[in-house]
Amino acid sequence: MLLSRFEYRAARTVQEALDLCAEQPGSRYLAGGTDLLPQLRGRRRVARVIDIKRIAELRTIREREDRGLTIGAAVPLGEIVTSRAVRERYPLLCDCCNAVGAYPLRNRATMTGNICNASPAADTAVALLALDALVVARGPAGTREIPLAGFFAGPGQTVLRPGEMVTAVVLPAATAHMRGSYQRLSRRRGMDLATVGVLVGRGHEGLQPRHRVALAAVAPTPVRVVAAEALLDRDPLGEVTRAAEAARAAARPITDVRGSAEYRREMVGVLVERAVKSLP
Ligand SMILES: Cc1cc2nc3c(=O)[nH]c(=O)nc-3n(C[C@H](O)[C@H](O)[C@H](O)COP(=O)(O)OP(=O)(O)OC[C@H]3O[C@@H](n4cnc5c(N)ncnc54)[C@H](O)[C@@H]3O)c2cc1C
Repeated sequence: MLLSRFEYRAARTVQEALDLCAEQPGSRYLAGGTDLLPQLRGRRRVARVIDIKRIAELRTIREREDRGLTIGAAVPLGEIVTSRAVRERYPLLCDCCNAVGAYPLRNRATMTGNICNASPAADTAVALLALDALVVARGPAGTREIPLAGFFAGPGQTVLRPGEMVTAVVLPAATAHMRGSYQRLSRRRGMDLATVGVLVGRGHEGLQPRHRVALAAVAPTPVRVVAAEALLDRDPLGEVTRAAEAARAAARPITDVRGSAEYRREMVGVLVERAVKSLP
């Protein structure tokens, strides 16, 4: 099917992009285009597409004073996974970025596009939830930071206001060096969305181990399972069965072409156990 008609504009600054968006109702920002362009071959109609890839300030990964990192909205996934700072401090994020599509796709697709598309199966979202990431959004009313935990409003929906653009994702210093395991089932390796995704992360607060459990593709949005985390904090191996049960109970899967709701719910438990047993 042919792409629907739209006006294409490329912005050089964030302000120019915001102005272009304000000027034409029904505009969309375009990063890698790997979600947006296929959607424009379907039913979706967009009056103006605003390309943000050439905005220099969005193309950088920057150190923060608190030793956290700021990842610009137009940095492709391929650059995130080869960044030394990200690999050393946020290896879990690299694992999840590497789970998105295949190598050529990751050279184009961005992490910000992955979360703004708000698919329940977004692979980077589970790592960002575990890492307490913040989304930086700039719009007509100024700049705000939104915890990723409150960013998703439903399948394909975020809490971004009309015209707001995500400029960066912030990884806090507090969750640096969290290790973990991302267990993912899909119909085909490399070129399919997750049927079920389960991430278990382990960091430390002083000498105390602290766990994170996040699920993809089994609820209307990617979700954290705090009840399972508390059980693993108490005794990771002793409580693994109950943690798996808590994760199964938190899942609200649907049946679709990738799998049935029953299969997905069952696999959440299996993958939690597998992830905990393979924690580094
Ligand atoms: C063959 C194939 C395989 C795929 N495999 C996977 C997979 O395994 N796992 C997975 O999670 N996804 C997968 N995807 C989906 C897609 O590649 C990812 O979601 C990707 O990260 C999207 O990034 P993008 O930069 O291309 O986003 P775009 O298509 O540019 O944008 C996606 C959405 O976000 C909005 N947007 C983009 N940037 C901003 C911004 N800065 N501010 C506000 N809104 C913005 C756009 O308007 C659009 O609605 C796959 C896609 C294809 C085509």
